[in-house]
Amino acid sequence: MEITADEMKKTIRKIYDRLDKVSPVDFDCGKLCGEICCVYDADDYHNEDLALYLLPGEELMYEDSDSYKLYYIDSSEIKYPHSWKGQIYLVKCINPPKCDRSIRPIQCRTFPLIPHLNKKGEFHLIFDESEFPYKCPIVQNHIKLNDDFIQVTYEIWSILIANPLVYDLVDMDSRMRDNRKTDYEIII
Ligand code: SF4
Ligand code: SF4
Repeated sequence: MEITADEMKKTIRKIYDRLDKVSPVDFDCGKLCGEICCVYDADDYHNEDLALYLLPGEELMYEDSDSYKLYYIDSSEIKYPHSWKGQIYLVKCINPPKCDRSIRPIQCRTFPLIPHLNKKGEFHLIFDESEFPYKCPIVQNHIKLNDDFIQVTYEIWSILIANPLVYDLVDMDSRMRDNRKTDYEIII
């Protein structure tokens, strides 16, 4: 049975609400770095060019927002799993670091953790050590994350990867990490 847009929005809202109740640390980590992950800007890299990729259904949350510009690219134009057909949705933050936090994307809510599947298919959360031109002090200094943030983020990503599209994407990113022999720290 096809899931309706309303049902999908309710599901995403529940995920957002669950993640709203936890925070990576008990202080405003933006004060450590001037909210660099929202506003980093340099000659060769502008955060305004940094798009936040949405997970399936998340695009429904941004149809009428002053904080985000919703747009899409065709799946054939980017390196995405073959199972993702048609439009891949993204948002740009219009006025970072200010945004409508009630609808910020999952990718942003669970940072600095990202999902990883090891070669045996076991699911972990790891620090996001992607090749950003800036350093997140939490990652760089191995600042201890709140246990409830880790637990809820793990629970949410475990639910999300039950969707084959999300699984394929996480698997593709994980295999690329393996191929690059990128070191990563398993958090859970
Ligand atoms: S998540 Fe990291 S980079 Fe972003 S505001 Fe917090 S400390 Fe800074
Ligand atoms: S959604 Fe909000 S918190 Fe996330 S990067 Fe954009 S401005 Fe920053």
